[in-house]
Amino acid sequence: MAAAQSDRDPPSALCAEFLNFSAKDTASRWLAAADLQQEVYAHLAVYVPRILCLGPSGSSSSREEQREELACQLLLLAPLEWLLLGEEPATGLALLQEKNQPSPLCGHVFKVGEPTYSCRECAADPTCVLCMQCFLGSVHKEHRYRMTTSGGGGFCDCGDAEAWKKGPYCQKHTPTETRDTEEDPVAQLPPDLVARGYSIFSIILKYAVDMLTWEQDDQLPAGLEPPEKGDTYYCMLFNDEVHTYEQVIYTLQKAVNCSQKEAVSFATTVDRDGRKSVRYGDFQFCEQAKSVIVRNTSRQSKPLRVEVMHSSVVAHQCFALKALSWLGQVIQYSDGLRRILCQVGLQAAAEGENSSLVDQLMLNDSKMWKGARNIYHQLLMNSLLMDLKYKKIFAIQFAKSYERLQCDYVRDDHDREFSITDLSVQIFTVPSLARMLMVEENLMKTIIKTFVDHLRHRDLQGRFQFDRYTAQQAFKFGRVQSLIGDLKYVLISRPSEWSDQLRIKFLEGFEAFLELLKCMQGMDPVVRQVGQHIEMEPEWEAAFTLQMKLTHIISMIQEWCSTDERVLIEAYRKCLSALSHCHSSLPDGEQPISLSLAGHCVETFRYQVSQDKVSIHLPVCRLLAGLHVLLSRTEVASRFPEQLPLGELSPPLLIELPLRCLVLCAQVHAGMWRRNGFSLINQIYYYHNVKCRVEMFDKDVIMLQVGASMMDPNHFLMIVLSRFELFHIFSSADCRKRYREANKDVVQQNNTLIEEMLHLIIMVVGERYVSGVGQVEAFDEVRREIVHQLSIRPMAHSELVKALPENGNKETGLERVIDSVASFKKPGVTGRGLYELRPEWNKHFNLYFHHYSRADQSKAEEAQRKLRRQNGEDTALPPPLPPPLCPLFGSLVNLLQCDVLLAVEGAVLQWAVEPSGGGWTESMLQRVLHLVGVALLEEHQQLENSSGDDDVTFNYTAKITRPGEAPSTSGSVLALLESLQNAPHLEVHKDMITWILKMVTNIKTMRERTSSASTVTISQGQGPEETVRDKDKAERKRKAEMARLRREKIMAQMSEMQKHFINENKELFQQSLEELEASTSAAAEHSPLSSEPSCVSQVCVGPRRVGGAERRQLVTCILCQEEQEVRGHGRAMVLAAFVQRSTVLSKNRRRNLPDPEHHDPLFMHPDLSLGIHTASCGHIMHATCWQRYFEAVQLKEQRRQQRLRGHTSYDVENGEFLCPLCECLSNTVIPLLPHTHSPDHSVDHPNLEAWLRTANQQIAVLHFAHRKQSDGVAEGAEPAVPEGFRVDFTPQNPFSSSVSEMITTFSMSTYKVGLKVNPNEQDHRVPVLIWSTCAYTIQSIERLLMDEEKPLFGSLPCRQDDCLSSLTRFSSACWTAAPATTTHTHFIRLLSALVPDSQVENTPCILDIDMFHLLVYTVLSYNSVHSLDQSGRSGVDSAHLHLLHLVTVAHLVQVLLTSTTEEVCMDQDSLATEEEELTCQLYNTLRKHLGSVLPEVTSGWQLFHCVKVGVLPFLRAAALFFHYLNSTAPPADLLVAGPGQWEALCSYLSLPSNLLQLYQSQHTLLEPLIHRWCCHPGVRQTLQGGGVIVRFPRESNRLIELPEDYSVLINQASSFTCPRSGGDKSRAPTLCLVCGSMLCSQSYCCQTEVDGEDVGACTAHTFTCGAGLGLFLRVRESQVLFVAGKTKGCFYPPPYLDDYGETDQGLKRGNPLHLCTERYRKIERLWRQHGIAEVIGHAQEANQTLVAIDWQHL
Ligand SMILES: [Zn+2]
Ligand SMILES: [Zn+2]
Ligand SMILES: [Zn+2]
Ligand SMILES: [Zn+2]
Ligand SMILES: [Zn+2]
Ligand SMILES: [Zn+2]
Ligand SMILES: [Zn+2]
Repeated sequence: MAAAQSDRDPPSALCAEFLNFSAKDTASRWLAAADLQQEVYAHLAVYVPRILCLGPSGSSSSREEQREELACQLLLLAPLEWLLLGEEPATGLALLQEKNQPSPLCGHVFKVGEPTYSCRECAADPTCVLCMQCFLGSVHKEHRYRMTTSGGGGFCDCGDAEAWKKGPYCQKHTPTETRDTEEDPVAQLPPDLVARGYSIFSIILKYAVDMLTWEQDDQLPAGLEPPEKGDTYYCMLFNDEVHTYEQVIYTLQKAVNCSQKEAVSFATTVDRDGRKSVRYGDFQFCEQAKSVIVRNTSRQSKPLRVEVMHSSVVAHQCFALKALSWLGQVIQYSDGLRRILCQVGLQAAAEGENSSLVDQLMLNDSKMWKGARNIYHQLLMNSLLMDLKYKKIFAIQFAKSYERLQCDYVRDDHDREFSITDLSVQIFTVPSLARMLMVEENLMKTIIKTFVDHLRHRDLQGRFQFDRYTAQQAFKFGRVQSLIGDLKYVLISRPSEWSDQLRIKFLEGFEAFLELLKCMQGMDPVVRQVGQHIEMEPEWEAAFTLQMKLTHIISMIQEWCSTDERVLIEAYRKCLSALSHCHSSLPDGEQPISLSLAGHCVETFRYQVSQDKVSIHLPVCRLLAGLHVLLSRTEVASRFPEQLPLGELSPPLLIELPLRCLVLCAQVHAGMWRRNGFSLINQIYYYHNVKCRVEMFDKDVIMLQVGASMMDPNHFLMIVLSRFELFHIFSSADCRKRYREANKDVVQQNNTLIEEMLHLIIMVVGERYVSGVGQVEAFDEVRREIVHQLSIRPMAHSELVKALPENGNKETGLERVIDSVASFKKPGVTGRGLYELRPEWNKHFNLYFHHYSRADQSKAEEAQRKLRRQNGEDTALPPPLPPPLCPLFGSLVNLLQCDVLLAVEGAVLQWAVEPSGGGWTESMLQRVLHLVGVALLEEHQQLENSSGDDDVTFNYTAKITRPGEAPSTSGSVLALLESLQNAPHLEVHKDMITWILKMVTNIKTMRERTSSASTVTISQGQGPEETVRDKDKAERKRKAEMARLRREKIMAQMSEMQKHFINENKELFQQSLEELEASTSAAAEHSPLSSEPSCVSQVCVGPRRVGGAERRQLVTCILCQEEQEVRGHGRAMVLAAFVQRSTVLSKNRRRNLPDPEHHDPLFMHPDLSLGIHTASCGHIMHATCWQRYFEAVQLKEQRRQQRLRGHTSYDVENGEFLCPLCECLSNTVIPLLPHTHSPDHSVDHPNLEAWLRTANQQIAVLHFAHRKQSDGVAEGAEPAVPEGFRVDFTPQNPFSSSVSEMITTFSMSTYKVGLKVNPNEQDHRVPVLIWSTCAYTIQSIERLLMDEEKPLFGSLPCRQDDCLSSLTRFSSACWTAAPATTTHTHFIRLLSALVPDSQVENTPCILDIDMFHLLVYTVLSYNSVHSLDQSGRSGVDSAHLHLLHLVTVAHLVQVLLTSTTEEVCMDQDSLATEEEELTCQLYNTLRKHLGSVLPEVTSGWQLFHCVKVGVLPFLRAAALFFHYLNSTAPPADLLVAGPGQWEALCSYLSLPSNLLQLYQSQHTLLEPLIHRWCCHPGVRQTLQGGGVIVRFPRESNRLIELPEDYSVLINQASSFTCPRSGGDKSRAPTLCLVCGSMLCSQSYCCQTEVDGEDVGACTAHTFTCGAGLGLFLRVRESQVLFVAGKTKGCFYPPPYLDDYGETDQGLKRGNPLHLCTERYRKIERLWRQHGIAEVIGHAQEANQTLVAIDWQHL
């Protein structure tokens, strides 16, 4: 290292050069030189290595960076600027900019995470986006838009007329004057500037290109060799996507001997920039590190790339990047300069083709490191892509090199966003460019061929074979898929006009595409597995991935074809011949057979899906089906069908493969393929799934429709029967008798197959909602999908979107139709908005809708029947009226009335006559009835539309009246139906059969009428059925009765089961939840609260207080159900409780958390920065029952952890458990204690002065005793002992051992949680923490009640009421468990804050004490002192009252000291009241003591107002405290919110309603105290700005304000940089909702060590901001995050909703999001009620995967 060090120029030498260097002179010297390049290179050769990359840059400080930056600018770039501009650069550039006429393109390049907007109405395609600024100034913000976050790269398309159908310019980019875009901007520049521009740009760009593509580590290009070359090298580590962060960090620590932190920093930079030097020194030194790294990383995979490079090479590469950035900046000033750079870049060099500088960069792209790529890509975007003329030239170059670039990319391992190929989105999505490239460079064909070339693995027939893929090939396959994306860009906008050239090139591309499809046709064939289960699931995903990726392409190609008839017909021909080619091998080796049925005969061949190979992948067939439908829509089809190439089709061949595939699905449903495992089930699932079905299942159905429309329907059906392997069932002589089959499984299989086949026939004749099959528009198709989705149940917008196929533009067409069929219901505070089908659309419901899964179908059926019953209609679900067919498909209807189908229908109906024993199924019958219904509707329709009887060829009614074929003896189909109508076992189908028979009657009437030449139409539901009505009614009543009986029976069964269940789970469930809720509220009833509400004057503190002790408290244990009275000496009863630290009330989040070991919690600071909150679900148990329960939980947990090794939602080791009844998260129990005794009215009540005197004496005695105890001997005279006061008295413990034990339990929990320490019963702080949680909990509840404007009493839920009451009584008794001296000492110290005591040191000043805490502590600790007084002369109550008075006065002073500001005082209008005068008086007293520290105030009114408002929360909290302490019923006025509170409050607290009288009446006593309070040095210091001044009333904390529009947040987050890694973008910016800090979450860079463990930024933040608990908004994910401690957390729905009332967690849908205030308030309330931990617990309990997330890393 030393050698390397000495080699460097000391910085001072360089400084000297700064001073002597003149950029201007250098520039003019260069200008005069003969060879400019030589001069510039010579300069760079000297300076670059001296300025850049000096020494180990691992430790580079920001100062070092700044120095480099400055030197670069002054010594290297400035001369270039002088040279270019010929004058002072700043002036020159400003001038250029002024004269520039900028192009209207915005071109803003997106940062990672920046919001982008796309208009769903106007964007040419979804890749057209606007930046936020442009969007806000555009017309689109009023349109339907989509918002996404950018992944980085890409730029704003504002101003690009081709990108937008409407409104291409925002306000800012609207061209001001009509500018000729063809005009050359270079012509605008002065000619000498142009000349200099060319030469400088050429030199610099060439230099940069040479350096970035430079491959030698030790040499430099000619002319750049440094004057002296030292032995200084870098060990450069390069990024790859193979090794993980952890591997790299570990290796680096070993190889270069750095700390973990440095290693993390290296790894982060390598990941970001693509390379980083990890060591600097001589060659040997670097080589050594390299070999260690290579050795360490080469074990499992290829090693990390490391190179040892000479420092001068690194320096030049570094400067090359800076030079490129510089070029990018300079051309921003002038479009002319930009064009010059474009010309320089694209100018072909002497070497010819692909030799321009830009070509060189592109062709070396995959060899460069990330950082270099990023910078030059950015330059390309700023230059070539911003200049419309050169964009075109560049596009051609890009297309020419396309194949090569893609190959490089596929071989490279960097993500696509770092590859030059990613620019395709910027070029191909411009329709004019795409079309030009297609015509001139044959782009479509090139892309497809490149793609096919990369997939080389084929089987013998030339089909793709993915199952033999190695991991590497699979990786490659993944990368090749981006080519499909390019193809999509090219095809995304259809041409509006076709040139002959375009036709030729498109068809060439189409042909290439067919080649691709041919490789897919028949891939991954399956064979049914019989006997054994398959051993290994075959690979199927790759083939489906390919299919899925191509789905949109196939659809788009069809769309292209549809715009030009000539192209369409030509494409059809090509597709047909491709299919024939695929079919050429088809019937080989299969024996021809001949089938006959119902008098018809057909030839086919033997093939069985259940035995032979079958494939799901038939893209060629399906494309042909799609084209056929398109043909059907054309003019030719309707007028000259003979001109179509239909003659070449062989219909049986067309249907063969799709039919096999559909039969395969049927057989899988029938359970025949169980042994083929999950891969087949998955394939079938995707085949029907919305992502694939458009180009799979849907097209197969269409293909059957195509075939059926061209064949004899009987032949078609016979082939179908044969492929379903059902022919024998229907063809046997007595087919109407059920084919008897011995094997039950086979019967069941066949039943399912018959059902599936009938369903298929229903689809073939009934699915007409594709434009071209039926006479419908795309609009109708979408609407029908929605109607059927909503027929299942009301759905949210996103659910509907998911159920609909998206087109290439990611649109479903939903928005155009939704409002016409559904009504929207807004969401509440939870849930989401729902769409509900309008009732008039119910009649369009089709039970056999082809996109229903079986589950959908049965749900929809149930919902529809229920609806009909509710409306009092019959429950028949007849088929809806189908739309008419297109001419080419017209003959499909004949299927309905063909003999074979009638035979099938007849057979099923015949079977149905007998109540089945497995021979037939109800679904089978239902389908037949449906088919009959469809046929009747068809006939009815034709009759209605016809003018006379003669042109209605469809005569189904006639056919079904015909008797059955011999030899069957049964009657006609109609006769069968009539006989089935009243069959008791067909109750469910009765309504449908009735409907059919009615239709038949209708049609007959119509036929009669039309034949009598009248064309009156008869609408259904009128006329002949009146008589049927009454019968129907009676029938329905009978059914209703039956249903009721059935329901009752079920109810009886259920209650029986329930009893059984409860018996079995006796331990935990003896009483249901409701009963228990009732019992707790019953307990609340005999609590004092509501029993005597309106007593004349209730007083809760002092000698006059009213007690509530006489009442017995009876409670029930939720575990054993025994009732028990609460007694001090009884069995202990406990309340499940949860204790947690809280910062909810904190007014100072910057205060550090206290050191647990040395923290003295005796005085709470008024900033309340950290408190302890206790909550309870209110459920009571015996202490013993609870202990048993908790032990069981512990045991179970131990076993669970052994098994699963995960943590649970609750942390048993920390004492956590779930309440056995309500599963509320708890971590301790509070023992229940009896009420306080009623006041002893026999004792005297000394006044304040007398009491203080006694108290002082008592304290003096205690001091003396304590000293004696600790020192052995006490000096000084023994103080006078007040009468009856016995220091050594030990009061009897009022509690049984079990109660005492529970007291210790709760004390220890509070101690442990509050201080984060291990339990220690001896610690003198134990009682303080209990008092603290009592005071803090009351304070926080007082705030909640105040902010929600609820009355102080009576509005709390039972559980909180019970919790506060037990907590307060417990706190008053806890001193019994602590050593007496401890509590005495506490009392002495506490009192000294009010009554200064010379023997007590370090008492805080009154501005540093929260008075409510002080009140609670003094009152509770006094009990122990009082217990020593055995005189029986004084009551504890008067002491409480005196303490209240004293603290109140102190608080008044505190409020007065802090409330005044310098604001102008208002003049008094009226005379001052007594209160105001007294306030002024007190204030002036304070000013007397403190002088000018306090401002002068003249307005007593204002002062008094401050006092009254400031002191109110204290009084309210005090009222709550004494209410619970003494069980005194509250006065009526405090049970309601509203005025009159003040007086009621004061009287309840036994205070004068003019509080100032407290001071006035004890003037002489208090005056010296006030004087001493004010003289505490802390007061003056704080008031003069030496500390945090807390003003009263303390404002309630709220969560931060959030913007209404979510994109504002995204934008904020996108400019947020990681605070640790110098200006890097944060990947997961996360907002703390409590304090508003933005954090860099879920990232290595911002991990912090907390308690010896590395945690993410969020968790670390919770420890400073929320005492371990935090609420965050993850901005990129639009997700609220709750974390508690290090192991627990959950996600919570964000308060942002889209217009459809839904959240968008993960920001996947991109609908605009707006703040929902109610939901945000709900989150806020959760936080303020301390409910977050509980929510996390519930979420984790409900969703065990949340437990597995490493929350601490977020
Ligand atoms: Zn923009
Ligand atoms: Zn704009
Ligand atoms: Zn728009
Ligand atoms: Zn019990
Ligand atoms: Zn509970
Ligand atoms: Zn960070
Ligand atoms: Zn925070």
